Amino acid sequence: MTETSIVLTGAGIGQGIALGPVLRMSAPLPEPEATPSTRTPDEEKARVAAAVQAVAADLRERAGKVTGTAADVLEAQSMMAEDSSLADDVASRIDGGTTAERAVFEGFGVFRDLLIGLGGYMGERATDLDDVAQRVIAALEGRPAPGVPESDQPYILVATDLAPADTASLDLTKVRGLVTREGSQASHTAILARENAIVAIVGVAGADELAEGTEVILDAGAGTVTVAPSAAQSDEARRRIAERESALSGGLEPGALADGTPVPLLANLGSAEATEKAVAAGAEGVGLFRTEFLFLDARMAPTVEQQREQYVKLLQAFPGKKVVVRVLDAGADKPLEFLNDAHEDNPALGLRGIRSLRANEDILREQLTALAEADAATEADLWVMAPMVATVEETRYFVGLATEFGLKTVGVMVEVPSAALLADRVLREAAFASIGTNDLTQYTLAADRLLGSVAGFQDPWHPAVLRLIGEVGSAGAAYGKPVGICGEAAADPLLAVVLVGLGATTLSMSPAALADVRLSLTRYTLDQARTLAEVALAADGAAEARDAVRTAAAGFATPAAP
Ligand code: PEP
Ligand code: MG
Repeated sequence: MTETSIVLTGAGIGQGIALGPVLRMSAPLPEPEATPSTRTPDEEKARVAAAVQAVAADLRERAGKVTGTAADVLEAQSMMAEDSSLADDVASRIDGGTTAERAVFEGFGVFRDLLIGLGGYMGERATDLDDVAQRVIAALEGRPAPGVPESDQPYILVATDLAPADTASLDLTKVRGLVTREGSQASHTAILARENAIVAIVGVAGADELAEGTEVILDAGAGTVTVAPSAAQSDEARRRIAERESALSGGLEPGALADGTPVPLLANLGSAEATEKAVAAGAEGVGLFRTEFLFLDARMAPTVEQQREQYVKLLQAFPGKKVVVRVLDAGADKPLEFLNDAHEDNPALGLRGIRSLRANEDILREQLTALAEADAATEADLWVMAPMVATVEETRYFVGLATEFGLKTVGVMVEVPSAALLADRVLREAAFASIGTNDLTQYTLAADRLLGSVAGFQDPWHPAVLRLIGEVGSAGAAYGKPVGICGEAAADPLLAVVLVGLGATTLSMSPAALADVRLSLTRYTLDQARTLAEVALAADGAAEARDAVRTAAAGFATPAAP
C-alpha cells in the first residue's frame, strides 16, 4: 500500500499515541482599531478597571479549581492582569485619546516584547501575558474569551500555543491530544501536558495548516503528527493505543527489566502535599524531595518545628520505603532573599546549593535537626543528600556534618562534571550518589538551562553527559553503592533504559512519568540496556545518540508483558 500521508514533526511529550479529528482553538481576537475614543478618558479607564477586575477574578477562580503548576500559573496571570505598571501604561495611552481596547492591546504588547527580550523563563511567560490581554479585550468588547472549543466528541486540540488558563479548562475526557505550533520542552503546554499525562507534540511548524476535522495520529515518542492517515495506519495506531493502555493498566509492579533486574522507580516531589499522586502512581519511594518550597516565599528560614512538621508528613506517606530528601538548593534559578543577597553576574556558577548552605551553616544545621527529628518519629527509610557538590572535600564536609546529627544514609547529588569525573573518590565518602541530569547537562555543555537561545544544548542524550553518568555508574558498581538518577532524563522511557545500562540503580521522576518508564524497562534485559548505552556513548551528539538508540532498540525490544 502506498503511504501518502503528510507527517509533521515536533517535540513529543512522553510516549503516548493518540488518534482523532482536529479541533482548532478559536482564533485570537482581531487587533482593536486605532481610532480615537469617543468616550472621556475617565470612562475608558473605568471600563479597563472593570474588565481587569473581572478577568483577574475569573483567573483566580480557575486557579482555585486546579492544583500544581496550573494553579500557580493562573494565580500569576491574575496578578499580571492587575499589575500596576501595566495599568499606568494603559492609563497614559487612554489619556492620549486611545480607546480602552487599543490601549490594552498596545500596553500589554510592550510588556510582552520586554519579556521576549529577556528570553528564557521570562520569554516563555509572554504567552501567559498575551492570554491575559486577550481576556481583558474580550471582556471590554463583551464577548467570550477566545479559548478551548466545546465538543461532545473526542478530539485532538490544535493551537498556536495553549495558555495555562486554556489548559486548566481542558476537558480531559474529550481531549485525546494536543498539537501546538509554538512551545518547547520547557513551555507551559509541555509542563502541563506532562503533569496531566496528555499526549502532546509541541513546536510543530505546520500546525497552522491543520484543517478542522482532519484525522491525525500523534506519536509522542517519535514526535510526529501523521495527517490524514491511511486506514492501515489508523488501524496500527489503534492497535498500539490498545496495547499501551493494557500494558499501562497492568498494575503497579515494582520497576524491573525484562530479565527481572530490579530498577526501583521513585518519585520527584516538590511538596509534602504531592505524596498522594506518587503513591497512586506506584512510586516505590521518593528519589528527590525538593525542600525549596518550604523556603521560597519566605523572608526568613522556616523554624525547625515548621520544617519537621512537613518532613513528618512526607515520611509518613512512605512507611518502610526509601525517601531521599535534598537539603536546600538555593541560588541561581531559586534565589532566596536571606541566603543569596550578593549580586552575582553568573549565579549558576556562584554561591548556590551546598556552597550557600556552607556560607550559612546555621540554616543547614537547623534543616538537618528537623530531618533527624522527623526520621526518629517515623518509619520511612530517610536518606539525605546535598545539591551542587563539586568536590571530594565538600562531600566529606556534608557527610561529616549530617552524620553528626544522627542521619544514617548521607549522599550527594552529582550535578557538576567535576563530581562525576571524581565519582570514584566522591563515592568513597558518600553512601550514595544521585545524578541531577538537568544541572549536569547545563554544566557539561555550558548552557544556561533557563535560556531559550541555548535550549538546544539542554539535552541529556548528549554523549558527553552520558559518559559522565557512566563514570558515576562504574564507581557505584565498584563500591557497591547506589546511583540514582533524579533529573528529567529519568522520565524519558528510552533514555531511562540507557541510564540503567550506564549503571543507574534507581530512577526518580515526576509521578506522571512512572507508568511509561515502568513499561519501557520491561522490554529490555540488562545486557540489552548495556548495549544501548554503548550505542549512545558511541554517537557524536544528542540527536545522533537518540536516533541510534531508537534504531538499535527496535531490533531487540521484547513486547511488553501482558
Ligand atoms: C537536576 O539538576 O537534575 C535536579 C534534579 O535538580 P533541580 O532540577 O532541582 O536543579
Ligand atoms: Mg539541580
